[in-house]
Amino acid sequence: MPYCPNCGQENNPSSRFCLACGTKLESVVEGTKGLPVKAIVIGATALLIVIVAIVLLTSPKGNDIYGSYRSLVFPSSHLELKRDHTFIMNLYVLGVKINGTWEIIEDDQINFEVSPSDELLLPFAIGAPAIIKDDQIMGLGGIWKRR
Ligand SMILES: [Zn+2]
Repeated sequence: MPYCPNCGQENNPSSRFCLACGTKLESVVEGTKGLPVKAIVIGATALLIVIVAIVLLTSPKGNDIYGSYRSLVFPSSHLELKRDHTFIMNLYVLGVKINGTWEIIEDDQINFEVSPSDELLLPFAIGAPAIIKDDQIMGLGGIWKRR
């Protein structure tokens, strides 16, 4: 029900003029109806943009990870290949953490370079490239299953 902006009288939706004071209702009703809806749409859009920006800026490093693998040889060991072509291999059983770089050199061949400071921890990783296939990496001292 439209209310008169002049006297507050409740009027029929079809009334063009206030029943009590005769003020023209049509344009006033349209104006008060249209403005809040537009403001709400603009406000909601702005809020959405802010939320998306915050999510993108503060999201965890999940997007940096190319693949996460667990060892089928060393229980609870973990290999993480990052998109910046570094990797971290965590051999919890041995209490050893190894860093290095990785690169896919052919369709199913992946080359690992262990950081010089970690070479003594993982001598068997140096040499032939590993095979990366069907969500598995065969090499780096065993079989690694993508999770
Ligand atoms: Zn009125």
